[in-house]
Amino acid sequence: MLKTLFTVLLWALAGWGLGSWLGAHIGWGLFSLGLLLMIFVSGMQVSRISRWANDIESAPPVSVGPWDDILSMVYRKLRRDRQAIDHLEQTKLQMLEAAHALPDGAVTLDGQMQLTWCNRSACEHLGLNPGTDIGYSIFNILRMPEFARYARQGRWADPVQLHLQNEEHDRTLLLQLVDYGVDRYLMVTRDITQLEKLETTRKDFVANVSHELRTPLTVLTGFLETLQDMPPDSLTSEQRLRYVGLMREQAGRMEAIVSDLLTLSTLESSPVAEAEPVDMSALVHKALQQGRILSRDQHVFVVHCDESLQVEGVDSELTSAISNLITNAVRYTPKDGTITVSWYRADDGTAVYTVQDTGIGIAPQDIPRLTERFYRADRGRSRSTGGTGLGLAITKHVAMRHEAELRIQSRYGSGSTFSLVFPQRRIVSAPAVE
Ligand code: ADP
Repeated sequence: MLKTLFTVLLWALAGWGLGSWLGAHIGWGLFSLGLLLMIFVSGMQVSRISRWANDIESAPPVSVGPWDDILSMVYRKLRRDRQAIDHLEQTKLQMLEAAHALPDGAVTLDGQMQLTWCNRSACEHLGLNPGTDIGYSIFNILRMPEFARYARQGRWADPVQLHLQNEEHDRTLLLQLVDYGVDRYLMVTRDITQLEKLETTRKDFVANVSHELRTPLTVLTGFLETLQDMPPDSLTSEQRLRYVGLMREQAGRMEAIVSDLLTLSTLESSPVAEAEPVDMSALVHKALQQGRILSRDQHVFVVHCDESLQVEGVDSELTSAISNLITNAVRYTPKDGTITVSWYRADDGTAVYTVQDTGIGIAPQDIPRLTERFYRADRGRSRSTGGTGLGLAITKHVAMRHEAELRIQSRYGSGSTFSLVFPQRRIVSAPAVE
């Protein structure tokens, strides 16, 4: 403002100076010319400012006379505001990313229970599609009577458990509604499918153990009661021996179950033991000896063993896995069948232990379940040959603890092949295959 006044004063002085020398007319003319020039320059500056106003993000024009100070103040304020908005935007994005990364599902609903937002887990849990579902009532999206009943309660102290089924998989969810703000609701979902499965497995396991132990225990108690109720001399010594033999058999069965259960529990709860080079061929030969005794020369054994091939592992655990597979082959192969045991280095560099038999085989639907505890494909044969139903569960655990894979191939009626495949990094003897 002062600058402008000063410039006007300068033009007035110049006009007055020129007027006193060349006449008042010339003086006024110069003064008017000066004012016109000032108006023209000012007009130009205003037009540059208005051009800048259309693109306010760019730097303001420089040298715009009296506007310079104002524009630099406006520009500084604009920059501060822009930084604050960027910061807020960044924070909002980070919060949204965090909300999307939550393992629990989160859905926001308005007062009419219409979907306003949902995170990725909620989409996965409830099959929501934000593109098409936002703005629609949750009751139209989740068409489940138990959900509708729960949501219409109005107060939600506890979550509700829902079972959702679709073509891909079944899911069990815990769903909780919470109200926040005015007429706004938050719906939280948690996938408890695995937890529920674990709980079912635990219950089944307890029921199975009780059942497995109850049968021999009942037989044993029956014999003991019979012996107790009989007059002392009413049994011949052969009968007494037979009864005691049968009772020992049942007690042995219980002992085998408890021993296998303890092995499993040790494998599950103990940390993986320090691995040492294990002479697998020695273990295979030892297990074969036991297998031959069990077979009582009723089977033909064929053995291919790479004596130099060793893996890193735990001797006792591998012993149990190796002999479990040989024992099973004997027990599930009828008389005169052939059992082929191999320990070799495969072409892909892995070390493979296989037990192949020409036995009864396993139906395809049973194969995936064989390593479940107490699962038996042939219940009668398993029991009559002293099986506990835990051998393959133990073998699978041992395999896992050695980074090995238990593979089962079988054709019902014509035999099975069980293999333990150890990765190359477990091999300690032979040089690595290129
Ligand atoms: P079990 O003590 O009953 O043998 P396992 O866990 O060792 O328990 O085996 C589970 C089931 O797998 C057995 O009950 C049997 O039905 C089946 N099975 C295991 N090995 C063989 C085999 N070599 N041939 C046929 N069936 C087998």
